[in-house]
Amino acid sequence: MINTELSNIAEIVLNQRKFFQTSKTKDVDFRIEQLKTLKQAVIEHKQSIIQALQADLHKPEFEIYMTEFSIIKEVDYAIKHLKTWIKPKKAAVSWEFFSYFAQIYAEPLGVVLIIGPWNYPFNLIISPLVGAIAAGNCTIIKPSELAPHTSHVLAEIIAKYFDPAYIAVLEGGVETSQELLAEKFDHIFFTGGTAVGKIIMAAAAKHLTPVTLELGGKSPCIVDTDINLEHTIRRITWGKFLNAGQTCIAPDYLLVDKKIKKDLVDGLQECLKEFYGEQPDNSPDYARIINQKHFDRLVSFLKDGAIIIGAETKPSELYIAPTLIDNVSLVDPIMQEEIFGPLLPIIEYTNIAEAIALINSRPKPLALYLFSQNKNLQKRVLQETSSGGVCINDTLMQFGASSLPFGGVGDSGIGSYHGKASFDIFSHDKSVLQNSFWLDLKWRYAPYKGKLPLIKKFLG
Ligand code: NAD
Repeated sequence: MINTELSNIAEIVLNQRKFFQTSKTKDVDFRIEQLKTLKQAVIEHKQSIIQALQADLHKPEFEIYMTEFSIIKEVDYAIKHLKTWIKPKKAAVSWEFFSYFAQIYAEPLGVVLIIGPWNYPFNLIISPLVGAIAAGNCTIIKPSELAPHTSHVLAEIIAKYFDPAYIAVLEGGVETSQELLAEKFDHIFFTGGTAVGKIIMAAAAKHLTPVTLELGGKSPCIVDTDINLEHTIRRITWGKFLNAGQTCIAPDYLLVDKKIKKDLVDGLQECLKEFYGEQPDNSPDYARIINQKHFDRLVSFLKDGAIIIGAETKPSELYIAPTLIDNVSLVDPIMQEEIFGPLLPIIEYTNIAEAIALINSRPKPLALYLFSQNKNLQKRVLQETSSGGVCINDTLMQFGASSLPFGGVGDSGIGSYHGKASFDIFSHDKSVLQNSFWLDLKWRYAPYKGKLPLIKKFLG
């Protein structure tokens, strides 16, 4: 583990630059070897990772396997496809370039920085790291200080398996982040809130460093009448209350067709009992809020609207019951910021145009959910709204498809990753045009006398 008090950040970055300059990371076999090492490291330390996540978030082991260890699939996917991704891609050229050969090389960027959040504190560090390794970079990682157990485990594992001149974890809070941001990196990959995202981008701008910003926002979930009600209820309940609602793409609020609202609300209440029992605080399957600050923030939202079910709290355990809320006003604090907790406001609409207008009056969300089998409605919502991604008739599952780039748009983020997109985001597309020596037509060289009609004919 690298302790920032003992090691100078500038020195660590410099050592990584030196390591990168050896070109070792450019070798595809080296990259594959490192990915295999990463996978092995995760597998060998599953138990300590589970313990850390439980200490930080009270995460059920099942959820850890589903949402944190799912990263192993991303590693396998990268190992399987890397030799194809890395191949220079031929680019077609127009007939004027008949003697040329054009290719695009995916070139590693150099030394990159990954800054992570606390809600999926393992996955959201390792997942971008897979892309950074696959693309041939050296990496410095700054996990979230708000999930300290996971941060320590990450630091221990990375230090055990990787040379710090290649991959290093720097633990710490905002000051560590700020010290890191004072250095020049070749890319910064940040996952966190929109407000901090702006700080990261401003710091990166000083060095002209490109950024990927994986941010959050209020992800709406539209529920139409043309649905399988039972499946809809289960999928919404799961997506909202997994990790006690502390998921960047959790449905933030429901927009429900008035005609189906009562059935949906009744069903959601039943489903909560089915999932977590009459007393969710006794359920082994229900997580806790990360810290006092977020607990207090969420409790303050309970003043808004009318509680349908839930709202019980246990401050000593940072427990908030799964809560459904009716009659919220759009100006209530709960509808002004990302909830990021187990509270679900339910808003009704009479016409889909109202729901679309509400979504479009707000910053572009990270995810948009639509429950409807109506093809025309699906088409309309897709066409008339903008969001990082859309999932129709389900929740959260879009995160797990390696073939789908995952990221935000507008206030919900810049850039996307997962699968090939992770490789792309940590690579530079270097265009290489090559001419041959068998012919050298003089049409472009001075003196230009007499050549103007020709250039006009072809390019004018
Ligand atoms: P955060 O923005 O508070 O912190 C994220 C990281 O930034 C931490 O490592 C923290 O140390 C660092 N940081 C905090 N303040 C800083 C500052 N002033 N200067 C420099 N660095 C600073 O986010 P969080 O609370 O850890 O996570 C919650 C947010 O992250 C939510 O908004 C959620 O939607 C979003 N999120 C997005 C995704 C995604 O994939 N798009 C995934 C998870 C979480």
